[in-house]
Amino acid sequence: MRTEKNVDELCRKWQKILRLEDWEIHTELFSAREFEECDRQGEVVYDISTGQAIIHLLDVDARLDTPFPYDLEKVLVHELLHLHFAIFEPEQEDRLRHDLWERTVECMARTMLLLHRQGNTETLGR
Ligand SMILES: [Zn+2]
Repeated sequence: MRTEKNVDELCRKWQKILRLEDWEIHTELFSAREFEECDRQGEVVYDISTGQAIIHLLDVDARLDTPFPYDLEKVLVHELLHLHFAIFEPEQEDRLRHDLWERTVECMARTMLLLHRQGNTETLGR
């Protein structure tokens, strides 16, 4: 079972791999109803000018009504990648652009995690 301390350690690990160590990041586990949108598994709130960010991740104990398994580490990597692309984020109103942008971030998160789990990024964080 993951605790907030585990998640915090996981966040430090990925900050190192993704070269995001200059960000001050706080992680919190959320239950499904604590998210602004109920189907969310994660979200990130950031301030580019201060370099501070808060990442909310769905508590692993949450029961999900989805056929896709919940992978907390993947969601964490996804939210962290948002920080790299923060200044390029399209307006929420531009639905198509925003959706495609989300899919790109998701695709990169999955690829990063896949490579990492195959052991190919072990040296990147050093
Ligand atoms: Zn996203």
